[in-house]
Amino acid sequence: MIRRVVLFILLIILTGIVAEKLQEFPPIFAIDGFGYQLETTPAVAIGGGLLLFLGGFLLLTLIIKIIDLPHNLRVANREKKLINGTQALSISLFALANGDLEKSEKHLKQTEKLLQENPLPALLKAQICLRKGQDAKAELHLQSLLDDKIGGLLAATTLSNLARKRKDLNLALVYAQKAHELDIHDANSIISLFDLLLLQKNWAKADELINQFHLFGKYLDAKTKKRLNAIYAYSQIKHNFSDADFALTSKAHKLAPNLIENTKFYVEMLLHLGKKSSAIKILQKSWKAAPHPELVDLLIIIGKDEPAEKLGKMAESLANLRAGHLESHLLLARIAIHNRAWKIARNSLSLALDLEAQSRIYSLVADIERAEKQDFQETARWLEKANQAIVNPVWHCQKCGHNLPKWELRCSVCDGFDSIIWGKQEKMGANSRQYLLA
Ligand SMILES: [Zn+2]
Repeated sequence: MIRRVVLFILLIILTGIVAEKLQEFPPIFAIDGFGYQLETTPAVAIGGGLLLFLGGFLLLTLIIKIIDLPHNLRVANREKKLINGTQALSISLFALANGDLEKSEKHLKQTEKLLQENPLPALLKAQICLRKGQDAKAELHLQSLLDDKIGGLLAATTLSNLARKRKDLNLALVYAQKAHELDIHDANSIISLFDLLLLQKNWAKADELINQFHLFGKYLDAKTKKRLNAIYAYSQIKHNFSDADFALTSKAHKLAPNLIENTKFYVEMLLHLGKKSSAIKILQKSWKAAPHPELVDLLIIIGKDEPAEKLGKMAESLANLRAGHLESHLLLARIAIHNRAWKIARNSLSLALDLEAQSRIYSLVADIERAEKQDFQETARWLEKANQAIVNPVWHCQKCGHNLPKWELRCSVCDGFDSIIWGKQEKMGANSRQYLLA
């Protein structure tokens, strides 16, 4: 507002100055040009000049607009196509997610017309074919996308998974390699490729892949690198346990003391060599990293020839490493039951129940009632409680939810790589796949 007032005042002053200056000129003067002579007043001359300038400017703008018209129309048309195409694509995607294949296909046709250069319709088309069980057709659509900048990675990954489903590991490897080449920093591609190389027992390439220094730090963290190296060692040992060398088994345990199968390999190897005290040390390291009931099984194996008192002491020193942990209470209870030390067993179970009333704890109380007092009525009462209590932690796949009796590198249902974790099963869907456990 203030600016406008100031401008207005300035304009009045300027007009005053111009008017005063014009008075100094003769009232009429002549302009010569192109053989003509025009007599006029200075005010008319200036006004006419301004009008001519304005007219020229408007004409020029109009000409530019007319020249740009076809281009602008093309841009507007393209934008409209993109908006409509994206809209149809979204509808098609939602319909596919809801299982309405007919609706999805109908909108996909529209999308294909509107988004001709875009790879997304072809990807969606492949997805629809997969849903219909037309894998071969889906593969054709995906193959056409392999060299596309945006769709290539997804196409190569899906093709690799399809080949793997058919148990064609060689082809799966070719596509996984392609996916990795398309984006060498994509963590999922690295892991799928690594998984396939392990399945093929191509140890050298698998090792080379996970130890490419440029991949780590920025794209995969140090913890993942350790975990992948531990899995590498695990796969090698598992493949050839009888000949597995001591250094490799030791390295595997050091890399991931919480990878329980590596602890089992190592303890078994040490016991075979008669190194019982080293086996206990390894057990301690693992217990410190991640207390687990299967480590209690290992302790029972290690101490099977020991007198009850010594086994009890071994359990105590192990439990002290993670004092107050639910698994430590259960460790003491199980060894006490094994030693028929009922008082210690009952006491440890009561401490465990204070932390969390899990089903397996009530089952152990029932075991004591049966073994100590042969009180079958009490046993039944505790078993009933176990039935209604909080569920136990289990090995389960965080990708598909399947339960397994022990840790496996690959889920037997969905083939998920390193997707098996120990713990209470979360409701599926709340959390999508989270790679690598702590
Ligand atoms: Zn699974």
